[in-house]
Amino acid sequence: MRTRIIAFANQKGGVGKTTTIINLAVCLASRKKEILLVDLDPQCNATSGLGVPRKEGGSIYGALLGNGSALDKIQQTKVRGLSIVPSEVDLAGAEVDVPRADRYLHRFHEAIAPVIQQDRFDFIFVDCPPSLGILTMNALAASHSVIVPTQCEYYALEGLAVICRLIDQIRTGGGSTSLDIDGIVMTMYDGRTHLSMEVVEEVRRYFGDKVYGTVIPRNVRLSEAPSYGMAAVEYDPSCAGAKAYKKFADEFLRRHAKREAGSTTADLADQVQAPQTEKGHDVSGVTSAEPT
Ligand code: ATP
Ligand code: MG
Repeated sequence: MRTRIIAFANQKGGVGKTTTIINLAVCLASRKKEILLVDLDPQCNATSGLGVPRKEGGSIYGALLGNGSALDKIQQTKVRGLSIVPSEVDLAGAEVDVPRADRYLHRFHEAIAPVIQQDRFDFIFVDCPPSLGILTMNALAASHSVIVPTQCEYYALEGLAVICRLIDQIRTGGGSTSLDIDGIVMTMYDGRTHLSMEVVEEVRRYFGDKVYGTVIPRNVRLSEAPSYGMAAVEYDPSCAGAKAYKKFADEFLRRHAKREAGSTTADLADQVQAPQTEKGHDVSGVTSAEPT
């Protein structure tokens, strides 16, 4: 089975989970990867951000309760190579209904099992809501790894400590025994403030090379793109945010190629290839808050 399931999770709201998943998914699709994005957030931001119309009964909600599977819900997006299981507000009911079901932590895994069996996708990306509720727990229990988008702000480390504890609990509790942090991606970096730099350095001190070398700048284009139903990498490919996400996609693929090759060595290639500060993070072209 080649399909890797990766959850994009952080219990904090508004840290860039959806922006990261959309832009990474579109970048990878343009590099000939087959991607399925599952929008597991009742806010439906990934669905609308990709210009996919919401329709009643279109989400994975029914499949979580044993009615059909995610296979029936897959839609092609406007982007070649990128499919989606969209969200719908009915997913909000899952927080109440799923805990009453048998094997309530494994409902998502069971719902996507037929998709995995098809072996059609290289990656299944799961956009989680901003909570550690039943939807996020289900996503983590079904995933091989987690990407944790983390905003460059003061409480970043506290937030990371919480999600790391949960990942440990799921691993040791048998939810997904190999669940690991794929990486932490620092978002909304503001090169005009010392705080952003200090936060990245502190997170890097604790998490080392788990932190992606690419840092995503604060960039207004990234926040404009969803209102056009497009990823920023399509809406304005030359803006600083889009360039950063393209670099991030390169780095993601390098990491995965290494993982597949069974390499366990530190990511030296990233450190050599990416222009970096002396502290080791890639902030090339990130000097002001709003470069476009
Ligand atoms: P939620 O927890 O509500 O699901 P989220 O973690 O998915 O939020 P996003 O929706 O990606 O976060 O981003 C929150 C807001 O910040 C959105 O309006 C988005 O357009 C904007 N945003 C995300 N990343 C950036 C960035 N690097 N620069 C500027 N704005 C950004
Ligand atoms: Mg979101």
